[in-house]
Amino acid sequence: MYSTLPLDEIRIEELEVFAHHGVFPEETENGQNFYVNATLYVDVSKAGQADDLSKTVNYGEVCHFITAWMQENTFQLLESVCEKLSGELLCNYPMVTGVDLEIRKPHAPIGLPFGCVSVKVHRQWHEVYLSVGSNMGDKEAYIRNAVSELDKHPLMRVEKVSTLTTTKPYGGVEQDDFVNGAIKIKTVLAPEQLLDELHIIEAAADRKRELRWGPRTLDLDIVFYDKLVYESDRLIIPHVDMANREFVLKPMAEIAPNFRHPILHKTVAELLQTLQS
Ligand code: ADP
Ligand code: MG
Repeated sequence: MYSTLPLDEIRIEELEVFAHHGVFPEETENGQNFYVNATLYVDVSKAGQADDLSKTVNYGEVCHFITAWMQENTFQLLESVCEKLSGELLCNYPMVTGVDLEIRKPHAPIGLPFGCVSVKVHRQWHEVYLSVGSNMGDKEAYIRNAVSELDKHPLMRVEKVSTLTTTKPYGGVEQDDFVNGAIKIKTVLAPEQLLDELHIIEAAADRKRELRWGPRTLDLDIVFYDKLVYESDRLIIPHVDMANREFVLKPMAEIAPNFRHPILHKTVAELLQTLQS
């Protein structure tokens, strides 16, 4: 778990849903009972203080939502049901910051005596900061378009966008000035999935990957993902060079001056001050 979830939980246990998920034709034709366990992470303090249903999540409504969704859709795998349904719950109930979702299938056609099989996932909203840049064509339009593409994605919400500033190119390649900015989003996507989505948005903006640090219509980088420290062959979080890049830190300082770098332990405002001094 990457970020702090509220400690409060609303739990749904053993909701029985007759639905048609499965790999075998008889499963999708005849259907069977599934049992759903869901833990919704919701801060219930305001509802508790005011004794007001509108300040919390109505678990009755959620039970009907889960039932209708599982009956209207058919998937081969419980993994898919969990993956999609957890996203639906997070997107449709804004007060839910995270969800544990377990789906049990006690009548799975296994041909052996068994108690139950199940799949359980944990999904939650993550706080992510992106750096955005463009130095070809209508730079502002590429950036504005990227913001709207991010916001259109069902598993992302744009929360803040910095002002866009013009900066000189970085990395020694002779090229046009950049327009740069920073974007705060919430997303349910895991880091590598998010990178894939950013690459799709870059590709749709005619981005060609030719020269490192060379001209580009659109560059979308992950600066922070919660307080996560992560390294793989294709992704390093926090962004490895952010502390040396004024064009990243300046717009970041506008929307998140007090966000503390999880390795350097300095806030964005402090990192900017160090770089400028
Ligand atoms: P840059 O953003 O450094 O100017 P590119 O956009 O061409 O250069 O990115 C090159 C590669 O950097 C990407 O394909 C991606 O796999 C990798 N990368 C590593 N860490 C990150 C990150 N935090 N955000 C985005 N891309 C990253
Ligand atoms: Mg990039």
